[in-house]
Amino acid sequence: MMASGKRLGPRPAPFRVGLRRKPIYWCDTCAYTLPMLPQQQGSFPLFNAFGIQVLVHWSWFILPVLVFQSGHHRQFSSQVWTAIELLTIFGIVLMHEFGHALACRSVGGKADRIVLWPLGGVAYVQPPQRPGAVLWSIIAGPLVNAILVPILFLADMAVNHWIAGVSPDVIRYVHWMYVLNLVLLIFNMLPVYPLDGGQTLHAILWYFIGRARSLQIVATIGIVVAVAAGAWAAYTNNTWFVIMAVFVGLQAFQGWRVSQILVRVEAAERDERERQRRWMEGGADDFEQRG
Ligand SMILES: [Zn+2]
Repeated sequence: MMASGKRLGPRPAPFRVGLRRKPIYWCDTCAYTLPMLPQQQGSFPLFNAFGIQVLVHWSWFILPVLVFQSGHHRQFSSQVWTAIELLTIFGIVLMHEFGHALACRSVGGKADRIVLWPLGGVAYVQPPQRPGAVLWSIIAGPLVNAILVPILFLADMAVNHWIAGVSPDVIRYVHWMYVLNLVLLIFNMLPVYPLDGGQTLHAILWYFIGRARSLQIVATIGIVVAVAAGAWAAYTNNTWFVIMAVFVGLQAFQGWRVSQILVRVEAAERDERERQRRWMEGGADDFEQRG
């Protein structure tokens, strides 16, 4: 349709703006791919469920070594219980990851792979880039742990008080699993990007200040906390926490870099909308006129 008497030029082709490196993954412990994250390489497939491939990264086996190093296994009369405990941790992390993956699918996103490694698990999920869809995909993981809290609490109460003659191994096992699940939930919900708490904060802030600015804020918090926690961990000789802090810091830095790109993408998109709007209004001065 053309305004009478005035001929507009051809509608300007919308230019495309986007991130150069494509797939951007929303993961459990991180939002964006980094070489540091466990990939298919170095992982072996375990099974498929709901069309999601579950893999274990070789580094997961550091976990049993750490358990034995810590002397934690000595509290059980038989090491079968240590093995059951490790398998349960594996199961809890896996359920958490399936929470992310299935929630992501439910909002039309993509999720086809879960890799387990010593820092938890990574669900490779790509929810649609809307704050609501991202929020649900992130929060569904910790929600699994939150549901497990009362269940494990009741189990703990049952073996301690309600059922007579339970073996001390079972009592210790159930108690540890209750504590571990609770600690995982609390730690993971700290508002420190890229932990789930930080990503939740990102999705909530996204509603108010947009994707780029919200990512910038949570990534900055992540970097500051990682540096402080890393310094404290190094000072107290806590190797495991140093590794965690380095991981969090690098991921947060990557998130911050992505936020810088997003700021530019959003500005370009605003310019593009303005360009299209001016064309629609017929103020075609900017565009070539055709006779
Ligand atoms: Zn998670």
